[in-house]
Amino acid sequence: MIIAKTKEQIELIRESALIVSQTLGLIAKEIKPGVSTLQLDKIAEEFIRDQGAIPGFLGLYDFPNTLCMSPNSQVVHGIPNNTPLVDGDIISVDCGVLKNNFYGDHAYTFAVGEIAEDTKKLLEVTKESLYQGIDALKTGNRVGDVGFAIQQYTEAYGYGVVRELVGHGLGKKMHEDPEMPNYGRRGRGKKFIEGMVVAIEPMINLGTQRIKQHRDGWTITTLDNKPSAHFEHNIAIVEGKPEILSSFKYIHEALGINDHREDDFRKSPLVI
Ligand code: MG
Ligand code: MG
Repeated sequence: MIIAKTKEQIELIRESALIVSQTLGLIAKEIKPGVSTLQLDKIAEEFIRDQGAIPGFLGLYDFPNTLCMSPNSQVVHGIPNNTPLVDGDIISVDCGVLKNNFYGDHAYTFAVGEIAEDTKKLLEVTKESLYQGIDALKTGNRVGDVGFAIQQYTEAYGYGVVRELVGHGLGKKMHEDPEMPNYGRRGRGKKFIEGMVVAIEPMINLGTQRIKQHRDGWTITTLDNKPSAHFEHNIAIVEGKPEILSSFKYIHEALGINDHREDDFRKSPLVI
């Protein structure tokens, strides 16, 4: 069952989401060749606790860390470790926060130094596909409309849309109804309702859509070992339209990226 949130509850989710946004902005400054994902995980945990919040992934389904850190061909759910990042890597960073009993949860894929042109394009297209999906999140539409938008946009580039992992409703639980696949058919699936909050999170592969699960029970990689990208926002339906609660502005500011796409889905620009 989809749980509609009150205005007050949406503000609490926004607060948690923006702590995730700030955490990712902080991590953005630290990502460089030589740094390990475990070092970044420690920085994130300390920052989140300093905000009076709790890391949302730590202990959730027994996940051992604060961040999911998934380099290169890892799709999602990578466990931080001591391996240093190297020039030319990409690293998907997914972060959850719990504060005031409500979760925030979003993700960004970063380039480490200079990356290959085809990988650069994968990141750019996956990021835009997230906004294509968000644009379809409105009352009158259904779950399949968002999935269709993401699938159509990314498959036009020949990319693989991961089928086994999906976005989700967000609230007092990290994963609520409805499931939000990144593929689908127009006009199919559950109907969107005013006040619902979701995490939309395209996971898009440069090559095959097929994936494999590692023996650690967490890490998921592409079957052909080609790179995979992951971008995620948290969005509420307010007055029938999508309103982004999370923000990539902290990341963009840290990296000097001029990207205001998310403002298309915000009533007033976020001042940071
Ligand atoms: Mg996430
Ligand atoms: Mg999520």
